[in-house]
Amino acid sequence: MRIIVATIFPDFVKVVKEYGVIAQAIEKGKLDIQILNLRDFTHDKHRIVDDYPYGGGPGMVMKPEPFFELHDYCGRTFGEIYTVLTSPQGVTLNNKLAMELSKKKNLLILCGRYEGVDERVKNLVDLEISIGDYVLSGGELAAMVICDAVSRFVPGVVEEESVKRDSFYNDLLDHPHYTRPAEYRGMRVPDVLLSGDHEMVELWRTAESLKLTALRRPDLFLSREFSTQEKKALVWLLQELVRYVERRQDSPDPLSGSGKRW
Ligand code: SAM
Repeated sequence: MRIIVATIFPDFVKVVKEYGVIAQAIEKGKLDIQILNLRDFTHDKHRIVDDYPYGGGPGMVMKPEPFFELHDYCGRTFGEIYTVLTSPQGVTLNNKLAMELSKKKNLLILCGRYEGVDERVKNLVDLEISIGDYVLSGGELAAMVICDAVSRFVPGVVEEESVKRDSFYNDLLDHPHYTRPAEYRGMRVPDVLLSGDHEMVELWRTAESLKLTALRRPDLFLSREFSTQEKKALVWLLQELVRYVERRQDSPDPLSGSGKRW
């Protein structure tokens, strides 16, 4: 897959290519990220990309010509292109959208600045994407977020098994993770993770995942169709809860064993 970012601040965006799994995937040829400077698609001495708004008012507006010329160039150079515009007015990015976008051969991300882009630029755009209900000074950070979230679904960038266990992949939040040491400053890793019983470990993970989702994202939990393993985990959770209540003593959380309370 190829992601192309159109920006007036290419140096700002380029760090997205330079770290972690994305840098490794680029190195291995699994992913290509091109960053194009919109100013390279201007024709005046000062490489101007913005102008005053028709009708007056504060701020500047990004001119349409550099976007159209850059889009033409991408079409000529890379072939078929899916174009998104970063915009607080767009659909909010989520895991499903990132996964869909990862199937595109060429994804062009346009970064706005100032008051935004001339409305006619939207004729080039397949989808406007927001990264949340707040306003950024420019589309660069949004483009970097999109690049990162989309890249994780490109085969070979992150281990498939790991992506599938991440939050939201299966409309659940991820379970807690622990590493060595087994005890740190009085905080113990849950016994089940040290037990070597893989079936119980999986049941605990499913139960923790369901518990966290129910507590933090009841919208996801309530709209869920539970698998057999999840039903088993829910029953186990209830049994543990009943045992805990029956003991009626101030003991640690029966499920995590980490000292947290329900
Ligand atoms: N006047 C615009 C409005 O209120 O909708 C905001 C323009 S903002 C200062 C400049 C650029 O930042 C936008 O054109 C867009 O590219 C980007 N941007 C700002 N907030 C964003 C968000 N939440 N998601 C994605 N892009 C955003």
